[in-house]
Amino acid sequence: MTGSTEGLRILVTNDDGVNSPGIIALARSMAKLGEVVVVAPDRERSAIGHGLTFFHPVRLRSMGLADGISFYNTDGTPTDCVVLGLRHVMKGRVDLLVSGINRGANMGDDITYSGTVAAAMEGAINRIPSMAVSLASYTREDYDTAAYFARLVAGDLLQNPLPDGVFLNVNVPDLPLEEIAGIRATSQGRTRYSQQVDHRRDPWGGEYFWIWGHPPQGVPGEGTDFEAVKNRYVSVTPLHLSMTREEYLDSLRNWNVVKNHRREDSP
Ligand code: MN
Repeated sequence: MTGSTEGLRILVTNDDGVNSPGIIALARSMAKLGEVVVVAPDRERSAIGHGLTFFHPVRLRSMGLADGISFYNTDGTPTDCVVLGLRHVMKGRVDLLVSGINRGANMGDDITYSGTVAAAMEGAINRIPSMAVSLASYTREDYDTAAYFARLVAGDLLQNPLPDGVFLNVNVPDLPLEEIAGIRATSQGRTRYSQQVDHRRDPWGGEYFWIWGHPPQGVPGEGTDFEAVKNRYVSVTPLHLSMTREEYLDSLRNWNVVKNHRREDSP
């Protein structure tokens, strides 16, 4: 990196849909760093994870230009949007991928469900500096502070190439800028869910289900994303595509089936 932001090409996506206030605030903020192209789902696709559409076609529609930002929507997932954004809409070089600003935090185990974080994963898979940004609130919903910090962190991300397979997960408290305590590097916490299944019947007697839950609770833990946000800090977590727990490999090698099973034991 030269340190110059001139000619930067930035892909922006989300999982809340192309018309959500979070992506508009993010795109406008990123436009101060370079050329922004938005490719986002045409509807809410939250909690779709890293889904990729394989078995039916995906439509891409240009929505035109607004404030110098090109907007596109698709009927696909956030990951589909990244694939189309990189391989069709932007082609060539993409310097940065930013996903968000999600309505609601993406911390702890929520990360595994998140379409917002999955889009940043897709960027990392394609070896592009990538980050997910989420607003840690469903109440106030003012995206200005998060859009500001997204730009600050993005600026640093461009100066500090991450190791292969690493990308950033940023969570911003929903507070006015002057009430933010600072920025913390954090670890992914754990989440306690109160998952509910409502079993109902439709007018024809057929059964159906609603999967829902009360807002998940972060397990308190020092240095975690939850703790930082609770204390009014912006949380920045370096996530990794590899989910292997290296420290457990030796223990697993001592499992009976791994250690002792031979091909001749098979029936
Ligand atoms: Mn969402």
